[in-house]
Amino acid sequence: MVKTFFHDRVRALWWAAVLMALFCVEAGAAEEYVVQQGDTLSGIAQEFGIPVRAIQDHNDLVSADRIAAGDTLRIPPGPDVPLKYVVQPGDTLEVIARNHGFSTREVVAFNELDDPDALRVGQVVLIPGVSTLHRAGLPVALHRELDRMRVRGGWTHVVIHHSGTARGNLEDMDRYHRDHRRMKNGLGYHFVIGNGNGMRDGEIGIGPRWRGQLNGGHLASAAQNRYSVGICLIGNFDDARPTVRQMESLRALVRYLQRRCNIPTSQVTTHTRINVRPTRCPGRHFPTDAFLRSL
Ligand SMILES: [Zn+2]
Repeated sequence: MVKTFFHDRVRALWWAAVLMALFCVEAGAAEEYVVQQGDTLSGIAQEFGIPVRAIQDHNDLVSADRIAAGDTLRIPPGPDVPLKYVVQPGDTLEVIARNHGFSTREVVAFNELDDPDALRVGQVVLIPGVSTLHRAGLPVALHRELDRMRVRGGWTHVVIHHSGTARGNLEDMDRYHRDHRRMKNGLGYHFVIGNGNGMRDGEIGIGPRWRGQLNGGHLASAAQNRYSVGICLIGNFDDARPTVRQMESLRALVRYLQRRCNIPTSQVTTHTRINVRPTRCPGRHFPTDAFLRSL
């Protein structure tokens, strides 16, 4: 009897400690998300790489459809568990880091490595959890999807465009380029970033040309289209500024591409700066210099 009582007490205390630890960690790490027009709970959950249930529990939501634009949701922390990567013959820390969307410096710091050049085959290198990347701006699910894609060599530049229209989305632009501009590979850009009119504000869409690693169709020069990754922000930036979320997504995407393809900031540019024919794209309100400084 006494023994059982004692064990129950110990067990109860143990659970209390576990629950307190969990609560403290979660309370400290939760971030907030403001619901956008057209958002669904499952879409938000996917974007943060966590189960719908986790968001419901964290916000005392009874029903999945009880969210409205403007609501603030508390997002529980996503997967923070580091990945264990086993060093293969021929690997360098630079390539390992880049393939996982981090800089060499970040991986060296995370592993507290004294000599980054002394890498052994079979050595385990820890890659920070994906939630670290989400905090850097790229949604976890999108980051995973991009990481899974094969990337050919030869991408040396990133070129930024605007759509020149107040609204739009990837599918409509793809159809337009295919049907009206007679571009057999469809959408000329590799990525599209929405502004809340036709696509969610800041949503990053991956175009068929990035999935297929095809040359762009966004520049006047065929040679430039071979080495330039094209990103189009929806909006007419001769009339209006890009949204804050668009700029955040653009920065996260460009930084990812820079790391993945080893592109220096000096080769991140805009349509008007690189095109062989005169163009105003991406419009006079696009903050080119401030953006490049932020990379
Ligand atoms: Zn353009």
